[in-house]
Amino acid sequence: MIKFPIYLDNHSTTPVDPKVVEFMLPFFTEVFGNPSSKSHEFGWKADAAVENSRKLVARLINAESRNIIFTSGATESVNLAIKGAAEMYSSRGNHIITTTIEHEAVLDSCKSLEKKGFDVTYLDVDNFGIVNPNDIKNSVTERTILVSVMYANNEIGTIQPLSEIGKICKSKHILFHTDATQAVGKIPVDVLSDRIDLLSFSSHKIYGPKGVGALYMKSRIPKIRIAPQIDGGLQERGLRAGTLNVPGIAGFGKACEIAKSELIAETNRINSLKNMLYNGIITGLNGVKLNGHPKRRIANNLNLSFEGINSDSLILAMKEVAVSTGSACSSETGETSHVLKAINIDEDLKHSAIRFGIGRFNNEEEIIYTINKVIEKVNFLRQISLKSEKGEYAEV
Ligand SMILES: *Cc1c(COP(=O)(O)O)cnc(C)c1O
Repeated sequence: MIKFPIYLDNHSTTPVDPKVVEFMLPFFTEVFGNPSSKSHEFGWKADAAVENSRKLVARLINAESRNIIFTSGATESVNLAIKGAAEMYSSRGNHIITTTIEHEAVLDSCKSLEKKGFDVTYLDVDNFGIVNPNDIKNSVTERTILVSVMYANNEIGTIQPLSEIGKICKSKHILFHTDATQAVGKIPVDVLSDRIDLLSFSSHKIYGPKGVGALYMKSRIPKIRIAPQIDGGLQERGLRAGTLNVPGIAGFGKACEIAKSELIAETNRINSLKNMLYNGIITGLNGVKLNGHPKRRIANNLNLSFEGINSDSLILAMKEVAVSTGSACSSETGETSHVLKAINIDEDLKHSAIRFGIGRFNNEEEIIYTINKVIEKVNFLRQISLKSEKGEYAEV
């Protein structure tokens, strides 16, 4: 039996895995101490839980515990990485390179730095949403201190050539940050082989609780330093003040542990659900276009434009299926997605894009229901607009 509405918006957030919830519970009432309290067992136990989580979080990206700084989410991690590095290395230069398809966390951090005198180059991407590493190489100047390129895009799922970009940054001695929020837990992320200096990700995108995230910071050769953006205590080695969110961090660790052990099997399962959804829709409908790269994309993402359809009308027409037009942040403002603009799709196809985000808890039944619903509603909406073109609804 299907439970309605069907949740297919797993890029915006994911439900917390029940195993994670169960693991978190003792940290609200029993192990409730402040990990900074060094004088009693309550503090020690909380501290031990945080350090255990730190290990699990690090492991998922092939890092070590000391590389992990806990934050309130990817937005804070990104702010800390970009503003913290810019502030720390401002005597060396004031130039930052990023792309036009980044998440608002990156774009707005860069805009805020521009107001403070930094120069930011926003590189274009190709029609699949991929940035050309040569463009990065060619944009580097003597004043460049940081490159920030997202690992996988949250709207169209495109995966960037991270290791090539990492190589370029390394050879030019420039810091490399990646917003890996949509990649971690979905594809194997390895900070060492990709030569990543700073990496941001979030718990609530991988079936952990909201309000927790991590910033990975390389610790050796060369040693990286960033300026803290929140002052008020020596937590997280002075890089992020404030009492740690112990239940959240415990849940984040558990979520990372599950993500690591399930990664391959889960990706395969989600990929076949995605293929089933895509094939079902294109078999039943004409005029459907895939946005993003056909192969270099995260398994759970399907972004489709439906010719002649306004995406908001389609979303309204199929309330039983929770999908979105793009990022939750831009849907609030009602503006056309900056990502779809950047990949140059036809003007009317921009307004007819739907993002399907498949997750751990979706099943075949839900996908079949969704296929049929999409076909039915797209046909219905196309018929209405045909009739209104012919003037059959002239009185409306
Ligand atoms: C969701 C998301 C963020 C923001 O993460 P929060 O933890 O909600 O702050 C940043 N970047 C990308 C690519 C995302 O998908």
